[in-house]
Amino acid sequence: MTTHKELLDLAGIGVGPFNLSLAALLDSIPECHARFFDDKSRFSWHPGLMLPGARMQTSCLKDLVTPVSPTSPWSFMNFLVTQGRFYDFMSLESLVVSRQEFTSYLSWVADNLPSLAFNTPVREISFQKDRFLIRTDNKDFIANNICMGSGKKPYIPPCARTHLSNNCFHATSLNTRRPELAGKRVAVVGGGQTGAEVFMNSLHGLWGKPADIVWISRRPNYEPLDESPFTNQFFTPDYVDAFHGIEDERKAHITQRQKLASDGITPAYLSQMYEELYYQNYVEQGRLPDWQLAPDRELVQMEKNIGGYQLELTNKFQNTRENLTVDAIILCTGFEYCLPEYLEPLLPLIPGGESGQLPLDKDFRVQWDGPGDRKIFAVNAGLHSHGIAEPQLSLNAWRSAKIINNLFQEKHFDLGGKPRLMQWSSWNHISKDGKPRNAA
Ligand SMILES: Cc1cc2nc3c(=O)[nH]c(=O)nc-3n(C[C@H](O)[C@H](O)[C@H](O)COP(=O)(O)OP(=O)(O)OC[C@H]3O[C@@H](n4cnc5c(N)ncnc54)[C@H](O)[C@@H]3O)c2cc1C
Repeated sequence: MTTHKELLDLAGIGVGPFNLSLAALLDSIPECHARFFDDKSRFSWHPGLMLPGARMQTSCLKDLVTPVSPTSPWSFMNFLVTQGRFYDFMSLESLVVSRQEFTSYLSWVADNLPSLAFNTPVREISFQKDRFLIRTDNKDFIANNICMGSGKKPYIPPCARTHLSNNCFHATSLNTRRPELAGKRVAVVGGGQTGAEVFMNSLHGLWGKPADIVWISRRPNYEPLDESPFTNQFFTPDYVDAFHGIEDERKAHITQRQKLASDGITPAYLSQMYEELYYQNYVEQGRLPDWQLAPDRELVQMEKNIGGYQLELTNKFQNTRENLTVDAIILCTGFEYCLPEYLEPLLPLIPGGESGQLPLDKDFRVQWDGPGDRKIFAVNAGLHSHGIAEPQLSLNAWRSAKIINNLFQEKHFDLGGKPRLMQWSSWNHISKDGKPRNAA
């Protein structure tokens, strides 16, 4: 007996902020039958890292919809109005909200969109006859198109991989794990925003008062996020389109040069930290546990013995080796993109896919050997192709709108093409259709 399977125009895998934006924009297109599957029981956004005082690194106007559809009911502004807090919010005079408030907004959207299915892990996607077959724990679906939005995985430095335990773990599970750090010698590894927040919250004794804390950063110093206006141009549609068009070999180098545009510590947070450490060091000694700041160090080896974890660090400033003994290690070492396991049956149809980097066109569409009217999209999977803005929320709505326009081959959202502030592409640049792109 064959069981009837629901046919979808689009199946989304994962409901993080990226696919949630796609779902929110698709809500205005009732003729599209879409479903988005997530393995969690309800919406949450990096709950393990929801630390006290955590703030967004992007404006709340760069929400799920506003940049491409400011009249959508799923905007952050409509959330404020619906919650009855618009006027009080305005008196904050800031567009940078706490991560907790932004999560409340995302959850409000997720709670109200009918196309989302939680508690539904996707196990496998294959192509059968002329459609995608999506196997979940609950039932199977067939879909004409799919969009993968299942996020990234915590990056664990190789030397720490065999040591993962209750005393050596990635920060992504911090809040849910609630570690016991009282009386311990703690190493916080990683010099980005998460490292800063974990260091300060450990210092404040959020998980018990440690004996001492060392904050290790591979970077030459504790470096600020570059939020200046011209740098912010890297997070515009124009820039990302131009970046996509340059030769692949040049892209990694450019992205590396721009690291602090997306991956530094918020300047306000740095100043606040510095002030607190200054007063603790010179005026209010003894209030906090002992601490040490150790920039320009790389964790290269670790071993566990009866005395604790023996860490070996490279001091890159002096080009020497250092040793350190600690009882607990919190890895604030970021995230990495890994091909999702459910994609395995499709991989032979994706040229170059086995390299771990999906070949993505301008519209976030994976190049594959299947029929052209059956499309695979991938979000948060294109740092190598679309550049620095890809893992960020800044262009979330624009990315979703591009996907929708491509999906329907229709201009559901007007994505401009109007002259912008900066000229990224060469005057003489010849586009793929052979026409000079910027000719007068
Ligand atoms: C702590 C933190 C703060 C950040 N703050 C900012 C910020 O302020 N501004 C900014 O621009 N960027 C920020 N970022 C970067 C980026 O916005 C986030 O990483 C964002 O969560 C990426 O969204 P996503 O939808 O791609 O992935 P995720 O949020 O990781 O969502 C993926 C979802 O897919 C689900 N899933 C995975 N596999 C399956 C499966 N097989 N079946 C079903 N579901 C599955 C997961 O459970 C998850 O719910 C932050 C990142 C972190 C870690």
